[in-house]
Amino acid sequence: MSGIRPTGFLHLGNYFGAMRNYVRMQNDYTCYFMVADLHALTTLTDTKGLKASVRRVLAENIACGLDPEKAAFYCQSHVPETAELYLYLNMVALMGELEKTPTFKDKVRLHPGNVNAGLLTYPVLMAADILLQRAKLVPVGKDQEQHLEIARNYANRFNHRYGGEVFPEPYAFNFGEALVKVPSLDGNGKMSKSENQMATLYLADDDDTIRKKIMKAKTDSVVDPTAPMPETIANLFLLLRLVAAEDVIQQFEGDYAKGALRFGDMKKVLAEGMVTFIAPIREKAASIENDEAYLRQVMEHGAAKARERAVETIRLAKEAIGLIYY
Ligand code: AMP
Repeated sequence: MSGIRPTGFLHLGNYFGAMRNYVRMQNDYTCYFMVADLHALTTLTDTKGLKASVRRVLAENIACGLDPEKAAFYCQSHVPETAELYLYLNMVALMGELEKTPTFKDKVRLHPGNVNAGLLTYPVLMAADILLQRAKLVPVGKDQEQHLEIARNYANRFNHRYGGEVFPEPYAFNFGEALVKVPSLDGNGKMSKSENQMATLYLADDDDTIRKKIMKAKTDSVVDPTAPMPETIANLFLLLRLVAAEDVIQQFEGDYAKGALRFGDMKKVLAEGMVTFIAPIREKAASIENDEAYLRQVMEHGAAKARERAVETIRLAKEAIGLIYY
């Protein structure tokens, strides 16, 4: 089970942290993937663009290979049981723990004028999404590790307090590999939907924009191959590794070790690799996004599948709590 918020254009971080794994998992696991529109409301006050954003997230996921016939692919708000479980989980969520969550502190910094209770309880809603499907594996990027730990705490606390084994422990999942963090192009943190747009590669970027952003990526000019590699350069190698063949990577690594790496050459190869990777996704997503009837059918079909299990989970949770009176 996993989700992506419809709060802006999807980017390379979303792809390599999340969507790539959705596609890899959907053949071998029972999967639930959603557009996290309720999560978006924690920061979005102007909701006029929500419909277009939801459609784009659906289209981009399908363009990346998510098959709505294999996985349940739905909108969070179409599964109202989410809100019910969110309420129950609020009883095992501790204020102190939520206030200390680093993502909450970041959001308070970014949205000082709108520090609402939804922002504070963001991890409770996320736990509700996961536990509603009684999911064990959650394909997410590294930035979500702490939220997963919180979800595990709630699962354990609920089971312990009310008895029974309603919820399994969910874990962040990346096929046994380390969780991914796709860095931003300005050497400042991770790629994200809202921070520096020139430092993030979006799946909707046209070829020239991709080239321009990569050529402008920050690099340290003084290179001492005997010292630890500066983060900006390590980031370029990390991005190159996502789209280039092994021999190409080795050639640039060899050049770097000799102190002879030409950043311009490496960026050109990286840019062409990204263009080749992003262009087909962009084009496919654009055609799906406009197919209103198809997207409606995807959402209805997905919500029906997700609710089937959600209704069962709510019944189990209410039984455990003792909320069934006849
Ligand atoms: P969000 O965009 O915050 O709704 O996140 C959706 C998914 O994308 C989550 O699984 C995140 O962990 C993942 N994600 C977002 N940004 C990055 C990034 N820069 N690197 C790796 N994964 C990311």
